[in-house]
Amino acid sequence: MINPFSFHPVIEDYNIIKRYFREYETAHSKSRMRDFRRFARLIADAGYVVAFDFVGSVNFGQADTNSDVDFVLYLACENNYKGECDKTHCQTRYQIENLLMRTLIHEYSTLPYEIQVVDCLNLHLLDQELDRGDPMSPALFRFAFYRSICRCVNARVLKPYQERLMQNPQLVEGLTSELNAVFDGLNRWSPHSLSFSKYRSRLTDLGVRIPDSMLQKIRSHLDFGKDQMGDGI
Ligand SMILES: [Zn+2]
Repeated sequence: MINPFSFHPVIEDYNIIKRYFREYETAHSKSRMRDFRRFARLIADAGYVVAFDFVGSVNFGQADTNSDVDFVLYLACENNYKGECDKTHCQTRYQIENLLMRTLIHEYSTLPYEIQVVDCLNLHLLDQELDRGDPMSPALFRFAFYRSICRCVNARVLKPYQERLMQNPQLVEGLTSELNAVFDGLNRWSPHSLSFSKYRSRLTDLGVRIPDSMLQKIRSHLDFGKDQMGDGI
């Protein structure tokens, strides 16, 4: 399926770099993806609707033994609650996180690892916002962004929402015009430029030579980052 921001030049670059690194996916990344596919099924058996969008090292296929798994958690809040998921209104996120951290990771992986929910999106809220079609909606914006750069487990859950978004070109255009602001957010979650250099040195260790064209892509991405985020990286 086409991603909402896939034609934005920075997103395009980001995804080219990501695909490149994914060709050298680590065994740990593969096993974490397998774990989460299994977790999604088990969480569904427990009665919750979930999907995961990975950011960070699993997204780039570069997780190692010590890597945390960072992801966006999609869920359906309890009692058909239509706001942003928070503890006052809803225990669902808490229950799912507990299930993951206290049970599933310990039972199904030989070497337990840390997880970090970087954002949580309520599918009831997404549903409502897709009906409203307001390009200033923070929930729609985050959804379009995550779907454009992340790596999904249980995409089947997100597909109908993404299809509805893509069927509204005006909405996609409105969201795209807001895109630069999101790169500030990227800086907040993870110093992704630092991650690039870390992955690069790993590939060098493996004897993989990164093509000059790819280095240029990485450089232009980093330059963009500096322009957008100041000296914080
Ligand atoms: Zn909730």
